[in-house]
Amino acid sequence: MTSGRDVETTKTNYHNDDNDNNYSTSNSLPLPSPSVSYGKHPPAADERAEKTILILGAGYAGLFLSLNLETYLAKRSDCNIVLVDKNPYHQLLQEIHFVAAGARTPQQVRIAIPAMLRDKKIEFIQATVNQILLAERKVLLSTVGVGDVGTTAIPYDYLVVALGASTRYFDIAGAEQYTLPLRSISDAGVINVKVQELLQGTNDKGRDVKESSHNEGANLHYKKIVIVGGGATGVSLASALSDYVRSYRKSHPSAIDPSNVFIEIVEATPTILPGWDKKLVRECMKVLWEKSVKVYTSVPVAKVEQNKLHLKDGTIIPSSLTIWTAGVKGFDVKTEPEIPKLRDGRIVVNEFCQCEKYPDVFALGDIAALKKESTDKIFPPLAQVAVRQAKYLAEVLAGYIVKGKTGNEKFDYSIKAQVISMGVNDYVGSFGDYVITGDVAKIVEEFSKDAYLRALKSGGEDMASNLYGSDTISQVLAGITFAGFTFNRILHRL
Ligand SMILES: Cc1cc2nc3c(=O)[nH]c(=O)nc-3n(C[C@H](O)[C@H](O)[C@H](O)COP(=O)(O)OP(=O)(O)OC[C@H]3O[C@@H](n4cnc5c(N)ncnc54)[C@H](O)[C@@H]3O)c2cc1C
Repeated sequence: MTSGRDVETTKTNYHNDDNDNNYSTSNSLPLPSPSVSYGKHPPAADERAEKTILILGAGYAGLFLSLNLETYLAKRSDCNIVLVDKNPYHQLLQEIHFVAAGARTPQQVRIAIPAMLRDKKIEFIQATVNQILLAERKVLLSTVGVGDVGTTAIPYDYLVVALGASTRYFDIAGAEQYTLPLRSISDAGVINVKVQELLQGTNDKGRDVKESSHNEGANLHYKKIVIVGGGATGVSLASALSDYVRSYRKSHPSAIDPSNVFIEIVEATPTILPGWDKKLVRECMKVLWEKSVKVYTSVPVAKVEQNKLHLKDGTIIPSSLTIWTAGVKGFDVKTEPEIPKLRDGRIVVNEFCQCEKYPDVFALGDIAALKKESTDKIFPPLAQVAVRQAKYLAEVLAGYIVKGKTGNEKFDYSIKAQVISMGVNDYVGSFGDYVITGDVAKIVEEFSKDAYLRALKSGGEDMASNLYGSDTISQVLAGITFAGFTFNRILHRL
């Protein structure tokens, strides 16, 4: 058990005012009254107060939420935090393209959940979520384990759905059949095997391709890796693969000549990294060009075949290996009755990350469709958004459970800094109006990973957790932490 923080005595910002009456405004979080009884049968008096907070998914949102909530509720014997994930490990998805490009092992981009939860008052269940029974306040799970396979129903008082996203193929013929996705560590492992086969010349399906644009030189036959989707995942993957292809022969002398391997990105919209800062996009285009990655823009894919892509403008692009990073959709979780979702499967939530129709159900991260206040824009599927939502909801739920009241603070966040990985050691970022590259971008990236891990492991108690707070004090403290981190790094490099 870690040193828990008593929410009653700790300064938090889960409410704005001490006046109880403020919490019943139409703007406040409409949670059910604390006196509502849950479950099929009204619980006995001594059990009545016991609450189960069931969190589905131990990704960026779910794991961060459970550890932060545990910090607030550790001293409460009447609260159970239950965390469910199909894997026994937390995936650092932001780094899995390095696994695809042989620059990291799967072990380096995952954290064992049982070890992370050691001494914490959180019950972890390794199981697959099958269905959410909203009326009965239960979730059906398929449990896995030696001699212990079956379906279990877990009741809840509060449910948080944080199951992430899966690949979206937009019903394009052949896309799912003939391309490889990149959404998990195991997807990354599969891509790495296929790329190695291609570089060793042992991939019979990844045949040589011939194409007039590349046939001018002496090498009439070559291999081509086509990445469909020029978002952050596609761009980071293409850059890392380019480094990999160029270095592979040093350790594998029998591999094919890297000058016979081409990498291309095919993007449907007029630019790569749609929605990102324009100056950053220009810098990334420059890096891709330096890494010999060819980029097609404004070319939607119409159909995919084995070793071939048909574009909507009639162009046919040959490909030895095609990887699909073109879209994501909310993880498809069955609910009974149906919960309001967008066409892409994301669960519609209000500014409190809460389903309007089911006030005890919340959704966070990639699976949540949360509109940015006073705009029509939905928060993008980013880890930094997922973690901030988790921090926010931990404070809201703790406030409600401990004090039986909620604040009227809505979730809001403006992305001020972004960094994208452009190869094994290269990063490009934007910080306000500035584009950062080289060592500066690398330090920002290293800081953001270090801060995430420290904030995660400490359950929000480490100073680095301020990075995820939106109030001025948090931002100033995060700035001081960053300055300290940078100073340390510079000392180490001198
Ligand atoms: C290659 C790549 C690079 C990225 N780079 C960046 C970046 O640089 N910056 C950034 O901000 N974001 C980046 N992202 C996006 C970021 O990873 C996601 O926004 C983030 O993971 C969302 O967090 P989440 O908690 O919603 O979902 P996830 O982190 O995906 O977690 C979902 C969890 O649910 C579990 N799960 C799913 N289905 C079930 C089920 N049926 N039963 C039980 N468990 C289940 C999964 O195992 C997983 O642990 C990247 C994503 C990818 C794929």
